[in-house]
Amino acid sequence: MNANLFARLSASIASPDATAIETITGEHISYADLVARTGRMANALAGLGVKPGDRVAAQVEKSVEAIVLYLGTLRAGGVFLPLNTGYTPAEIDYFIGDAEPALLVCDPARREALQATADKAGAAMATLDVRGGGTLMEAAAAAAEVFATVNREADDLAALLYTSGTTGRSKGAMLTHGNLVSNALALRDTWHYSDRDVLIHALPIFHTHGLFVATNVTLFSGASMIFLPKFDADLVLKLMKRATVLMGVPTFYVRLLEHGTLSPGTTRNMRLFVSGSAPLLAETHREWLARTGHAILERYGMTETNMNTSNPYDGERVAGAVGMPLPGVELIITSPETGQHLPQGEIGMIEVRGPNVFKGYWRMPEKTAAELRHDGFFITGDLGKVDERGYVHIVGRGKDLIITGGYNVYPKEIETEIDALPGVLESAVVGIPHRDFGEGVIAVIVTTGKVSLSQEDVLKSLETRLARFKLPKRVVFVDDLPRNTMGKVQKNLLRETYGDLLGA
Ligand code: AMP
Repeated sequence: MNANLFARLSASIASPDATAIETITGEHISYADLVARTGRMANALAGLGVKPGDRVAAQVEKSVEAIVLYLGTLRAGGVFLPLNTGYTPAEIDYFIGDAEPALLVCDPARREALQATADKAGAAMATLDVRGGGTLMEAAAAAAEVFATVNREADDLAALLYTSGTTGRSKGAMLTHGNLVSNALALRDTWHYSDRDVLIHALPIFHTHGLFVATNVTLFSGASMIFLPKFDADLVLKLMKRATVLMGVPTFYVRLLEHGTLSPGTTRNMRLFVSGSAPLLAETHREWLARTGHAILERYGMTETNMNTSNPYDGERVAGAVGMPLPGVELIITSPETGQHLPQGEIGMIEVRGPNVFKGYWRMPEKTAAELRHDGFFITGDLGKVDERGYVHIVGRGKDLIITGGYNVYPKEIETEIDALPGVLESAVVGIPHRDFGEGVIAVIVTTGKVSLSQEDVLKSLETRLARFKLPKRVVFVDDLPRNTMGKVQKNLLRETYGDLLGA
């Protein structure tokens, strides 16, 4: 059997005339149409010199054609490398130099700025604009529709996704056809996805969430998705009347809650709200339930592993927890110091193993060896615990752990206490250099603006709830926390901005 994701996908199509993708301008692309377009694309790519195993890098806006490029690349046996549209040409230069793609696809407006980069890496260039125009689409329009999908093994590469890399060089995670297909099927079954589903797709497609979770799960179910260029709360609310699923980062839910019109009525047709990529505040989960009657289903994953855990579809969706391992995924908690398996209930490093786990980092054998154990367990870098009911709780990134005066402080514990204070919208706790303690705890707080809060108020409330060494040495009030496009709080930026606050 051909293990190529595209071959598996096309074999699963039961209703070729059903809509796969709908655009906000009202265009409907059927499954048959999608197959035809990917055939033309695969021929065009081959014509541009893309051979099986070659990387195809794309820095393009979200569009149906960008999905056709993704699927066409896989169909031609290539390895798809999506690049964040926010990256500057200087940043792109690093990725292209590292990945050495056969082809770089970019917006026509960027072509000149990226030409030297492509030349240096020996990559051909083609363009694709947001309306589906450009030299790549001209080549595809002129190409034949018939294309024999290239044979791939489950272990062959399908995609190279660079991690967001908040520290050090960004690493290329090598994802195989087997990784992507197994995860799409596990999520489809876990979330009871069917061909009756209509997804509101408002995520970017250069990241695992929008490209693999949202797109692959929908297509492997014969469902359809409404493609929004970007998140737009008004539009999402309107679309809920005829959609069934929303997949979002926590920020989506916070923004939607700010809307007066959100109610059980507006969400009546919806079946499932999924959140991931960053922690969903328990408060947001509860507010959403109160306002709509729906419990948001939170799941946990990462670029290297696809999705690892999910709250249950039928059982209790616990606020502040990320659920249980998906079918086929093993999850253990180990000591960050010794790597020893820790007993249930203890906080430690989350490690996962399964068909979802990537093959390693592109051209970084040492990094791969350091994070991917011989027995197949991947050291995620996330700290967490498993409760007595089997739900996984994440307490933060390993690198965000604060060690102050020799004590370990988990930022999440302090953030949870601060977030529960009246007048606090959200908070981020980080460690910054401290002369005596090595690191000192500081808290950065966003208030609701409804209650006046001072550093003294916050510390007074925390004093009775937290051990002294965990108390923030300083409290800073800000309007917003810095976030990346996936809604993750950029703690590295906070550490930079407030690094001198404790005078070390
Ligand atoms: P990325 O590779 O960009 O998808 O980032 C993966 C990281 O996002 C994980 O290692 C976690 O730290 C974080 N993450 C993803 N989903 C969740 C979640 N539901 N709750 C908390 N953190 C999450």
